[in-house]
Amino acid sequence: MKGPEASDHLDFLREIVRRDTLSGRYGDRVVTRFPPEPNGYLHIGHAKSVCLNFGIARENGGVCHLRFDDTNPETEDMTYVESIMRDIRWLGFDWEDRLFFASDYFEKLYEFAVRLIRDGKAYVDSLNEEEIRRYRGTVTEPGRESPYRGRSVEENLDLFAGMRAGKFPDGAHVLRARGDMSARNMKMRDPLLYRIRHATHYRRGDEWCIYPMYDFAHPLSDAIEDITHSICTLEFENNRAVYDWLLDNLFEEPRPHQYEFARLNLDYTIMSKRKLLTLVEEGLVSGWDDPRMPTIAGMRRRGYTPGGIRLFAARIGVDKANSRVSMELLENAIRDDLNARAPRVMAVLRPLKVTITNYPEGKVEWLKAPYWPRDIDREGSREVPLSREVYIERTDFLEDPPDDWIRLRPGGEVRMRNAYFIRCEGVDRDPDSGEVTGLSCTYDPESLGAPSKGARKKTTAIQWVSAAHALPVDVRLYDRLFTVADPENAGDGKTFQDCLNPRSLEIVRGCLVEPSLAKASPGEPFQFLRNGYFVADEVDSRPGAPIFNRIVDLKDRYRAGVPATKRK
Ligand code: ATP
Ligand code: MG
Repeated sequence: MKGPEASDHLDFLREIVRRDTLSGRYGDRVVTRFPPEPNGYLHIGHAKSVCLNFGIARENGGVCHLRFDDTNPETEDMTYVESIMRDIRWLGFDWEDRLFFASDYFEKLYEFAVRLIRDGKAYVDSLNEEEIRRYRGTVTEPGRESPYRGRSVEENLDLFAGMRAGKFPDGAHVLRARGDMSARNMKMRDPLLYRIRHATHYRRGDEWCIYPMYDFAHPLSDAIEDITHSICTLEFENNRAVYDWLLDNLFEEPRPHQYEFARLNLDYTIMSKRKLLTLVEEGLVSGWDDPRMPTIAGMRRRGYTPGGIRLFAARIGVDKANSRVSMELLENAIRDDLNARAPRVMAVLRPLKVTITNYPEGKVEWLKAPYWPRDIDREGSREVPLSREVYIERTDFLEDPPDDWIRLRPGGEVRMRNAYFIRCEGVDRDPDSGEVTGLSCTYDPESLGAPSKGARKKTTAIQWVSAAHALPVDVRLYDRLFTVADPENAGDGKTFQDCLNPRSLEIVRGCLVEPSLAKASPGEPFQFLRNGYFVADEVDSRPGAPIFNRIVDLKDRYRAGVPATKRK
């Protein structure tokens, strides 16, 4: 099964999987895994990895494991486990019964460590952290061997057992592989395998006071689960030597192999769980699910769709070189997905009152309004009420417009979408400020559904709501969370917090929406004609009183309301 917009061109990872399938390297097995650490919520970068790992498995008749890489007791928590599972399911992927935890492997991992010690391939080092760093050398200078490197197998076994039994304080000893202290790849200079941490683990409690390092736990967890293709991001390229060293020493082929791809970096946001946690903890956003956050939970609440995110992942593809991706790419994918999903309705964000002076007082007409534009192959409509007083968008009227203005002007005409043409006959203003407070218009009773002719052809149709029937709501408009494209490298000694956009959230009160929207349920997207895609906020909406989030705005020509004949 192919992903959205899949082409026959395979990316380099799919090419590798295909090669291995053809050669029968793993028989007919394709087993990938997604290995999050439960120390935060998933973000859009993780979504790329989820789509990749679950996607490759699905396309090749294989399976993808969900494995929590939970070997750091200090930062991990069950609430993160739950949020991660919810987010992956929401994205449309299913690990079925293949849910694993590295913390379930602690016994096995310990046994593997003992095996390495027995084989003379690992030793207990008693240098402290600072000394270990100094002994490691630099990129240009080789490291030096630790004075403890020569310990006998018996002494190492004894000390390692003592570490496990809790005889030593944090930092007293570590277990290290016997690598090569002069290796050019610094990761191979006796990598650390275990450290002492007297801390309570969210699943294992106080059972363990030694914890395996990522470089040890990760390859062995892959091997324990018979993973075939272990796909991770480029920063682990140098760790691959450790990965191979461990698995070559402890397993036989066909064992898992690691491949690296470029992580996703998205402009105007950050992609580090630790920094996202800082935003949450410092109260700079309302939570992990703040609609401005690049988290899956934030995007879901904002109204982004799983299909849109999968489309984005398919469009960016996978690459071997790091780069930054523009926010427009994500927003375009979201729009493209919403286009055929979101019924068109009318809402006025900044209302300007219009009195239709020749419309009978007390009369109400219910006019049929289709939910879908002609180019979308879907049926459905509702009726919208029209009465003598309506509201239009303040920005759809200009007193002194440029010549090519296609909306309302004094003495000019415009069509009320799904209704009549109105002509502006008079302008009311505040006597003190001069601000326009309302318009008097007349309508053309013959114009309902009639084709536009002459000067009318040069105008657009504008949205409106009936004053007596409209539902007042609050609307939240979002902008980028940061003011610079790469907030993590802002320069000038600026932190990413310094780059937060003070205008990333604008709450517009007193918006008026058509009455059908009282029933909008959270998660159900709408296109407010010419104003963008919106969804009722799942946290703050109340029955009958929705609060709308703008998911994304529209492309310029739809916003401006270019006459249909001029659209490309
Ligand atoms: P962070 O630095 O935000 O904590 P992480 O890589 O430590 O991210 P993990 O929970 O370890 O977070 O990540 C799980 C998987 O998601 C890993 O395989 C990792 O490579 C992948 N991943 C993380 N960030 C990105 C990203 N920006 N783009 C693509 N994949 C990513
Ligand atoms: Mg990680």
